[in-house]
Amino acid sequence: MTGLILAGGRGTRMGRVDKGLQPFRGSTLAAHVLQRLAPQVGSVAISANRNQAVYEAMGVPVWPDELAGFEGPLAGLHTALRRCTTELLLTAPCDSPFLPSDLAERLLEAMQAQGADLAVAATMESDESGDAYQRVHPVFSLMKTGVLPQLNAYLDTGARRMDGWHKAVRVAHVVFTDNAAFRNINTLGDLKDMEALAGQPQQHGNADLHAHPHAHPHEPAHGQAATQPRQRSAFAAVPGYTPDAMPVEQAQAIIRSLVLQRRQEPHGQPLAETVALRSALDRVLAADIVSPIDVPAHDNSAMDGYAFRGAELKPDAPTTFKVVATAYAGRPAGVPAGAGECVRIMTGAVMPAGLDTVLPQELAAAVTDAGVTVAPGSVATGANRRFKGEDLAAGHPALRQGKLVTAADLGLIASLGIAEVPVRRRLRVAFFSTGDELRSVGEKLDAGSIYDSNRYTLYGVLMRLGCDPIDMGAVKDDPAALTAALRGACENADVILTTGGVSAGAADYIRQVMAELGDVAFWKMEMRPGRPMAVGRIASNGRSALLFGLPGNPVAAMVAFYFFARGALLQMMGADPSLTTMRVRSAAAIRKKPGRSEYQRGVLTVNGNGEQEVRITGAQGSGILRSMSEANCMVVLAAAQGDAAPGDMVDVVPFHGLI
Ligand code: AMP
Ligand code: MG
Repeated sequence: MTGLILAGGRGTRMGRVDKGLQPFRGSTLAAHVLQRLAPQVGSVAISANRNQAVYEAMGVPVWPDELAGFEGPLAGLHTALRRCTTELLLTAPCDSPFLPSDLAERLLEAMQAQGADLAVAATMESDESGDAYQRVHPVFSLMKTGVLPQLNAYLDTGARRMDGWHKAVRVAHVVFTDNAAFRNINTLGDLKDMEALAGQPQQHGNADLHAHPHAHPHEPAHGQAATQPRQRSAFAAVPGYTPDAMPVEQAQAIIRSLVLQRRQEPHGQPLAETVALRSALDRVLAADIVSPIDVPAHDNSAMDGYAFRGAELKPDAPTTFKVVATAYAGRPAGVPAGAGECVRIMTGAVMPAGLDTVLPQELAAAVTDAGVTVAPGSVATGANRRFKGEDLAAGHPALRQGKLVTAADLGLIASLGIAEVPVRRRLRVAFFSTGDELRSVGEKLDAGSIYDSNRYTLYGVLMRLGCDPIDMGAVKDDPAALTAALRGACENADVILTTGGVSAGAADYIRQVMAELGDVAFWKMEMRPGRPMAVGRIASNGRSALLFGLPGNPVAAMVAFYFFARGALLQMMGADPSLTTMRVRSAAAIRKKPGRSEYQRGVLTVNGNGEQEVRITGAQGSGILRSMSEANCMVVLAAAQGDAAPGDMVDVVPFHGLI
């Protein structure tokens, strides 16, 4: 996909200035548009007819109109459709510094879903009488480059309306809810208003980037002007948003809403697939499993014994029934039993017509040639008979969608005769480690280097969760390499996990690179371990992915995964994200500072009195993986809490799928 910034206009309402080059927040309007557009597409070009050298200095090709005489944006589009070498072209005007960061993704999704040639953004507005109407923004369009002939035919008529030619192609409209994102700047007055708005203190996660520009010494990869903090952030709207001291519960709530905001089809692919029954193990059901049959299909015997009519039992004396037939599982008696008669019956055999009670064979008072004698009170009428449909009635759901399929569920589904099961597509999760010091297993360990362990724990936990892990290796602390890795991950996965580089250390470029690719917040969590974390959504080439920048320290990375990323992944999979917490007695004292949540690794055991108790595993340093390996649970100590004394009750979360 090529992105085209439309900057070739006359700027009439601004006094014939070159609109794209108007100063805005320390750079120019066009530079802001470039910054937001570049991550969403493969490459960018600018349509400009003046000051071409200045535009070229932004590091992207500049395409002047091939049609003579400032013919408006349509002339820029015409040239771009002729020159662009990709299948898709996305346009945005040079005066829309707040354009949506999911513009490409949403337009592409709609285009594919509706089989359209062109997708155009729209917003809902209300007219003077307050009635809602859809306002189309033709300058924000994604189109197949193959539409050039239709555009040419329209231009040949001499008309120049931006969307005048849309009648000739199949168009999809995509309504965006963030109307302000489409606000363009037509007059110098507008520009002043916008600048004034920009001057207000910013509350979102990237504010710290702004405050300490020297902590991030590299130049942005796409060659545009120095990075500005993002103007609009989904995080800014959260009440009491506190990126520098983020309570765990608040972070979890923000992450939940971040996942909920997503429409249901990541990457526009069908969420469900049908798999053979066995392959459904550990997958999430995409639909209810409705029983096509009654289970069991007939009334049948629960015991090996004798079937008769309970009403014939004498209350005070033994009753003897003559045995007239035998019923086996899968082989019915075939002979009706009359009054005073019974049928020898095996477990699972169909109850002969009219009979309602089974005497287990070991309870028979006597078995002689004359028949079976039942002592009074040895069996109640109706006993040991399983009813048709008692397990499941035909037409009723046996299992609900969203259920993680267990071994028992495989059996249950098989009992219904169902051979294929609709399950949700596995979530694709790309992950990589960052750090110049990291070596892969099998490599030589030179001075100062360490083996990369995080990728192995992440592989393990992702497999346990039933995700499709995409291991992207270890990436150097280098902006270009990080940008390439993040873009690659974004284009191929639903979720990206990285480890390392999110603290504000000198070599931690990843923060800046992430901020350039999307709406990413950097949090200093009020927790231990796992203090630094990045969370957000990044976009590249029409795709977007949820991003978790986990801390580098191996234990911190696992803890942050378990308490933040795990729930989001399950939520996206459509499964239950809740974690079980238990209150358990602490066998020993636990040291804990108030003011931050602590996640200490524990061993849950049953003591000599048969009671559960928990003990912390040795040294709790955030780099000491052994503490994790020895543990079977996490002891969760709430922020407000201080030390725990021996015998105190503490919260414990057993490891489910973490190890
Ligand atoms: P960082 O967050 O990048 O500053 O890393 C914090 C600490 O975790 C440093 O001591 C790193 O060497 C270590 N670390 C980072 N990534 C990994 C990894 N993939 N495996 C093992 N240790 C790591
Ligand atoms: Mg590092």
